[in-house]
Amino acid sequence: MKKHCNIPVFVPHLGCPHACVFCDQRAISGHGDLSLDTAREEIGRILSSLSPDTEREIAFFGGSFTCVERERMLALCRLGREYIQSGEVSALRCSTRPDGIDGEVLAILKEYGFSTIELGVQSVSDRVLAACRRGHTFADTERACRLVREAGFSLVGQMMIGLPAADPESELATARFLCEAGASAARVYPTVVFRGTALWEETAEGRYRPLSLEEAIGRTASVLDVFDRAGVPVIRVGLCEGEGLRAAAAGPNDPALGERAMSRLFLCRAREALDPLSPAGKDLEIGVARGALSRMIGRGRENILALKRIYNSKNVKVIENSFLRGYNIKVKIV
Ligand code: SF4
Repeated sequence: MKKHCNIPVFVPHLGCPHACVFCDQRAISGHGDLSLDTAREEIGRILSSLSPDTEREIAFFGGSFTCVERERMLALCRLGREYIQSGEVSALRCSTRPDGIDGEVLAILKEYGFSTIELGVQSVSDRVLAACRRGHTFADTERACRLVREAGFSLVGQMMIGLPAADPESELATARFLCEAGASAARVYPTVVFRGTALWEETAEGRYRPLSLEEAIGRTASVLDVFDRAGVPVIRVGLCEGEGLRAAAAGPNDPALGERAMSRLFLCRAREALDPLSPAGKDLEIGVARGALSRMIGRGRENILALKRIYNSKNVKVIENSFLRGYNIKVKIV
């Protein structure tokens, strides 16, 4: 399969009509502003580092691209189209808010060569959206997803874990909605608290309690399970250090959170397969897809230790099975 690279151009907070309680795009993207020259430089630098067989897209990420003041947005569109016309990239993509989508905007994106729209859905619960001061409702999200799909774009859904007023049920409902809405991929971001945001104040005043790392791992694993069963790939879990994670003041800010949530899902799948077999006191063998050994084993062998404890097993062996894919596993009592 051809390698794919999104060449990110961050449009921090440009044009965003709201201030979501959790958002500090300047901390996340690491830039306060963006000029066309800077964007060109950054794109050129990344392009020169890619092998010729890599499929490339320029990705306008960070803010709400379609809410950027129109002339500026069009200038960025023109910049992106130059690279399509020169054959250096195959398409463009952008991230935006659900209420930043309408027929006119979609026509512009189509004209300039965008193929994918990433929507910051965050939650399907109006209660959560209001608590986050998102400034739109779930009805806007439903409408935007429908318009994006009807216009022939790929839809990538971004959702968050542990938002104010959220609970595990609302997060599972959000993941299910994205699968039903025809998302071709998803991104899942556990909420971290940045200094200077409204959420930081709410945390300091005790009105918001950030998730513990353990809660974030468990709740993230549960939504990964929904996406996996629906065949929707999750292309990112959590922020990484390069996205300002180091600046996070509170919340589950472990850069390995994504890995740990994936590892937790493997543990859940193993338990689901083993429980009906009454394996107490027996040795266990768990088959996983190629490349999934370390995720099944877990950090510091935590999954192996958990299985040994739960089933009172002396030996738990994990092997690769080339017939398995993704999170599918095959268990054997030996
Ligand atoms: S819509 Fe996006 S960019 Fe704008 S404040 Fe909210 S999270 Fe930040």
